[in-house]
Amino acid sequence: MIKIVQCWDDGIVDDIRLCEILRTHGAKASFNLNPASHKAVRGQPTRYKDCKDVQRLARGELCSVYEGFTIANHTVSHPKPFEVSPETWRSEVFDGRKQLQDIFQQPVYGFAYPYGQHDAATAAVVAEAGHTYGRTCNNITPCYPVETPFRQPTDSHHMAVEFWDRYAQAKAAGAEIFYFWGHSYEFVTEEDWAAYTDKLIRFNADPDAVWADLPEIFPVTG
Ligand SMILES: [Zn+2]
Repeated sequence: MIKIVQCWDDGIVDDIRLCEILRTHGAKASFNLNPASHKAVRGQPTRYKDCKDVQRLARGELCSVYEGFTIANHTVSHPKPFEVSPETWRSEVFDGRKQLQDIFQQPVYGFAYPYGQHDAATAAVVAEAGHTYGRTCNNITPCYPVETPFRQPTDSHHMAVEFWDRYAQAKAAGAEIFYFWGHSYEFVTEEDWAAYTDKLIRFNADPDAVWADLPEIFPVTG
């Protein structure tokens, strides 16, 4: 049996449709959010690949949009980890976790590095703040277990052409998990949404696969 885990970054309006698809197909997921990005109203749209608008969700809709899913920390305001002072990094990590716990009234144990930037020092802060893992943007198969969960790679981005090859590779290696990630603004066309839905259907049809969520993989210990 291989546990299928996924997480999604940045808290954008397309997450509404993504969450509906996940619920329809009984799939689990974590969402990595930046509390400072969510204001009283939805954010100003920015353009993605010059073909669609990307908007952050309003603060007041977060709890309903993500009901039933796991919330994880993506820092307070999405800075580049290597471009802020150690003090700023520390407050971005610690305060992000606290603010998300206050908003969602659920414990927050997951962390994802903005822009995937991480090193030993940034990872040490993530660990100290009470998280149980820190996700990078590196891809390694099998991705788990690795040397430290605070610099945790995934197996694949959700749109990688080698996605199913990676999955086959993970299964062949006897991997415990298959972990993929992305941003829902990357679904540009109806075909993109359909291709993602087909992925969920294909996992559901695989007798070797079972959905899991990240807190199951990285439990609180001690
Ligand atoms: Zn991000």
